[in-house]
Amino acid sequence: MSECLFCKIARKEIPAAVVYEDDTLLVFKDIFPQAPVHLLIIPKAHCAGLADLTPETAAAAARIPALAAQLAQEQGVAEGGWRLISNCGPDAGQVVFHLHFHLVGGKPLGRVCR
Ligand code: 5GP
Ligand code: ZN
Repeated sequence: MSECLFCKIARKEIPAAVVYEDDTLLVFKDIFPQAPVHLLIIPKAHCAGLADLTPETAAAAARIPALAAQLAQEQGVAEGGWRLISNCGPDAGQVVFHLHFHLVGGKPLGRVCR
């Protein structure tokens, strides 16, 4: 997807504060952080969101929870607690349609589900 913002970040055509990278996943700081730690974890291969997984992006996404737990340790929020969120579709507030998970922590986050 040549015009996709996060594809451009994955291709290093747009700068981002990268904190982790491997063959299939990229992690960078959110440009408008909502918490002291606010990272975006993306598969490098394009898919619009969780409703549009392909075998390739599903395999990459399956690794994200364990990577998030590792990053939470490295970012110093493992003890206090953290949250992993993927907004899917307009009602969830998704604005970038390249699959991404927000890893947020470092402050009390409040409740979003009851
Ligand atoms: P969504 O609402 O789609 O789940 O979240 C998209 C996120 O991408 C937002 O938190 C927003 O701040 C972040 N974002 C938008 N544009 C950029 C950008 O150019 N660079 C970075 N690092 N984050 C971005
Ligand atoms: Zn993309």
